[in-house]
Amino acid sequence: MIPFELHTPTTLDEALGLLAQYGDEARPIAGGTALVLLMEQHQGRPAHLVNLGRVAGLSGITTENGSLRIGAGTPHRLVEMNPAVKQGWSLLAETYARVATVRIRNVATVGGGLAHADPNQDPPPSYIALNARVQIASRQGTREVAMEDLFRDYYETQLQPGEVITEVVVPRPIASLRTAYLKFLPRTADDYPTVGVAVALDVQDGRCVAARIALNAVGPTVVRAREAENVLRGQMLNPDLLREAAATVPAITDPISDHRGSANYKSRMAEVFTRRALERALAA
Ligand SMILES: Cc1cc2nc3c(=O)[nH]c(=O)nc-3n(C[C@H](O)[C@H](O)[C@H](O)COP(=O)(O)OP(=O)(O)OC[C@H]3O[C@@H](n4cnc5c(N)ncnc54)[C@H](O)[C@@H]3O)c2cc1C
Repeated sequence: MIPFELHTPTTLDEALGLLAQYGDEARPIAGGTALVLLMEQHQGRPAHLVNLGRVAGLSGITTENGSLRIGAGTPHRLVEMNPAVKQGWSLLAETYARVATVRIRNVATVGGGLAHADPNQDPPPSYIALNARVQIASRQGTREVAMEDLFRDYYETQLQPGEVITEVVVPRPIASLRTAYLKFLPRTADDYPTVGVAVALDVQDGRCVAARIALNAVGPTVVRAREAENVLRGQMLNPDLLREAAATVPAITDPISDHRGSANYKSRMAEVFTRRALERALAA
């Protein structure tokens, strides 16, 4: 591995100052589960690593004005186990429980996962289905982006040098919201998905009032299935309608062929798993 200098700030101001000072030569590091692997493979050569692990206030889960606030430094496992998340945002608890192994989930952080922007990751579709927002900070100030606008391309977000994710804010799901995250895993239980689908349907008296559907592993970024949402919105839900909605999904996919399946197979599975995720949400 290329030599680097490790900085361990204890305040956000200090961390942002270090990132600003070293510019392109610096990268934040949180759990290190992705970044260290990349550095070992010589895919990144930061001369300065700014460790976010000791930054006060960056880790933790709170509720405020009905919204869930998850600090960027919070390990996956704490989201999965948190009683408030399990009760009010069960889709997130279920989704984080599907990530890799407990050992990885104890170390990998919420912010590190989002900034890594691997399109195969599990949490982003569920965050998009729940209309989550991402808080970002730099020396210049703070800004907020919708989760679905964060991702730009394979392993690329709209984060600028010197910016860090500080928090994810998730509105409280309304009582009529039905949710599900379905992950297709033909290899091992701790693998990344071949296809993953998160759905959130607002169903009132059998009619779909609103729908948000997002998929991972089927393109350079997580994608939102807007055409499928349009098919469902305003309609009485029945099995034919769910099939019709799912049938619109392959057209928005652009997967790569790899060891998890051919591109064509993944597109077909995206349709099948969207229908099943819709069925599961309605059965819950
Ligand atoms: C073997 C293995 C299997 C895995 N399987 C899955 C899986 O099935 N599903 C899944 O969803 N995930 C899976 N993961 C986890 C995932 O892919 C990432 O490794 C993890 O989420 C990264 O989190 P981290 O805190 O370790 O980030 P780090 O490795 O510390 O950082 C990752 C990137 O984010 C940047 N960064 C870190 N924190 C911040 C921040 N707050 N603001 C801005 N930038 C930041 C870093 O500079 C780096 O570019 C797996 C990981 C491993 C090692």
